This record gives sequence, C-alpha cells and structure tokens, in this order.
Amino acid sequence: MFGETLLVQIGKTTLLCTVDNDSLCRGCGAPILWVLTPAGRKMPVDPPDEDGTPTVSHFSTCPDASRFRKAKA
Ligand SMILES: [Zn+2]
Repeated sequence: MFGETLLVQIGKTTLLCTVDNDSLCRGCGAPILWVLTPAGRKMPVDPPDEDGTPTVSHFSTCPDASRFRKAKA
C-alpha cells in the first residue's frame, strides 16, 4: 500500500496524495494513514473505503481533533 496514490477530498478539492505510512491517531486512537499531498505536506487521513470513494482528512472526522490544533490566535 505504501507509495500508492490515494484520492483525498478536501472541501471541494480532490488531491491525489501518496501514501507514506500507517499509524494510530494520537487523539482518538483510530487507524489512520499518513499521506503526502502534491505540495509535499504530510497529512493524516481516514483509511479509504474499498469502493474507491475519496477519503477525507482525519482532522475533519477525529472526535479529538482539537488536540491537533493550536489555540486560536
Ligand atoms: Zn483521531
């Protein structure tokens, strides 16, 4: 799976990302995949369904996402 490409839906944009490694979310403990975006940024996403539907950033589904985010300025 590593090195494969994966479609990730971000808002109205779908990015073709490269799978880097799998991990567990430090917040909620769910299995996640780390991908590299076309811009070279690392991002955690939910594992994709097998039907090819684009997956989404784990930030948007994590019940504990506030742990990732720094306090608002
Ligand atoms: Zn999480």
